Amino acid sequence: MHEFSTAVAITENVLNSAKRARAKKILSIRLEIGGLTLLNAEQVKFWVMEGLKETIGAESRVKIENINPEILCKNCGYIGDLHFMDDPTYHLSLPLFTCPQCNSSKIEIKKGKECVIRDIQILK
Ligand SMILES: [Zn+2]
Repeated sequence: MHEFSTAVAITENVLNSAKRARAKKILSIRLEIGGLTLLNAEQVKFWVMEGLKETIGAESRVKIENINPEILCKNCGYIGDLHFMDDPTYHLSLPLFTCPQCNSSKIEIKKGKECVIRDIQILK
């Protein structure tokens, strides 16, 4: 239920921002979820919409953009996606935190760990 707690935090954040902006209605919400958060975007969306029921955000459109992971290898300078390992036992894709080019674990994660509210459109 990682998605649920994430969605609750997002919903609270959205409603607080809308309140501060004196919004009458929330029109749309755009979220960005990185591939390394291992969050199920559809589930996050579902729980956000549940959380917005009977609020000024009840009719808002929720859009989620998935952000592809990007790493920088400090060993060979590789910049790009991480390799994912499919685990048939758990049916999960687990990211391997090593460089796909030289196998070094001295990597820096540039993108993919974000779970942010990118944009909120409101009606005043
Ligand atoms: Zn490398």
